[in-house]
Amino acid sequence: MNVLVSACLMGFGCRYDGGVRRLSCLDALGERHVLIPVCPEVMGGLPTPRSPAERVGERVRNCEGADVTAAFFAGASAALELAQREGCRCALLKERSPSCGSSVIYDGSFTGKRIPGEGVTAELLRCSGIAVFSENQLEELLAWIAAQES
Ligand code: SF4
Repeated sequence: MNVLVSACLMGFGCRYDGGVRRLSCLDALGERHVLIPVCPEVMGGLPTPRSPAERVGERVRNCEGADVTAAFFAGASAALELAQREGCRCALLKERSPSCGSSVIYDGSFTGKRIPGEGVTAELLRCSGIAVFSENQLEELLAWIAAQES
């Protein structure tokens, strides 16, 4: 099965701070499935590194107060297009990101406060029928795939 995966979890240097962190537990997933990397923020035209941004309602602003909503939504659309082109029916996305977060995001105050919520890409994918999981839900993703394949 083709699985859309946040590119930063796969070790691509697309994080807002330019850092590289690879989730080694993806190796097992990659042995049995095709992992399709996606970084909505880069696809939306944002540079790396970039100022951290947080979502509040339907707007996304960076820590300098600039409204970056258009880039985030453009990236979400591009991510959905990629998922549909590659036939991805599920996605494993980075939690807490204003793009990729699937159940927890920051509250927009840039104080580190977390709230229940979704990033704009996670929301668009989910609303388009793609099952979205976070990196904390690898077991749930594997169970979902197994159920689809049985
Ligand atoms: Fe990772 Fe998603 Fe942020 Fe790109 S937009 S760096 S894939 S969390």
